[in-house]
Amino acid sequence: MTGDNHVHTHFCPHGSEDEMEAYIKTALSKGLKQLTFTEHAPLPIEDTTPQKDSAMRAEDVEAYLKRGEDLKEKYKEKITINTGFEIDYLEGMEEETKTFLQRYPETVPHSILSVHFLKIPDSGYFCIDYSKEEFLKKMKETGYEKLTTLYEETLMKALAVPYGKWTPKRIGHITLINKFSEAHDHQDTVNWEVILEQVKNNGYDLDYNFAGIDKPYYKKTYPDAALVERAVKKGIWLVYGSDAHQSKDIGRYFERGMNNG
Ligand SMILES: [Zn+2]
Ligand SMILES: [Zn+2]
Repeated sequence: MTGDNHVHTHFCPHGSEDEMEAYIKTALSKGLKQLTFTEHAPLPIEDTTPQKDSAMRAEDVEAYLKRGEDLKEKYKEKITINTGFEIDYLEGMEEETKTFLQRYPETVPHSILSVHFLKIPDSGYFCIDYSKEEFLKKMKETGYEKLTTLYEETLMKALAVPYGKWTPKRIGHITLINKFSEAHDHQDTVNWEVILEQVKNNGYDLDYNFAGIDKPYYKKTYPDAALVERAVKKGIWLVYGSDAHQSKDIGRYFERGMNNG
């Protein structure tokens, strides 16, 4: 492990006010050689979360990229700085998402593709990781089975190169559906074997995301140790990321990581 490649900034409305430079300073203090900013790209849909704070504002994109560029130059002797996005895979919004990515092709290799929203028939987009309360409520409404199956299907679509050569080939926190797993009694029924095969066959990497350790109803990495082992056996590359939303979280728990990526 040489870098932290899943990092948010003050451009994120649910993050902290920490300046991007503060994240770099923490990275340097931890001896990291690379840092990749991956701010939540503006949503092409209306944000359906209660606070509507899932992603950065469209009018901030240029300022974000410019700040990343300036910091890359300023710190080039000390650390490699990349700037990409965490892109939401939104079923049915493939064209809009592709158009956004085509506008910023240089960010694609540094970006992450994440499933935070499921398109539930007749009820619209549902954010699976917003809060325990929202998740349990939706689980009651829709049924755990259905929700999980939909997650699996949505992941498979995200893993099918939905934006052609502009598709970010790193999948964010692949087990996010389990974020509140200790708040209910259901077992994980996702067919991870099929998912991992799709990851491998389509040349994706996995975001090895340490934020999960701090989630009170999960307390593990995304993916967890057992799944990491299976992925590694298949030759899938894992890319370390803290998913920091405040500068002090850069590189969090990386010492517990299982393989180098
Ligand atoms: Zn975030
Ligand atoms: Zn995410």
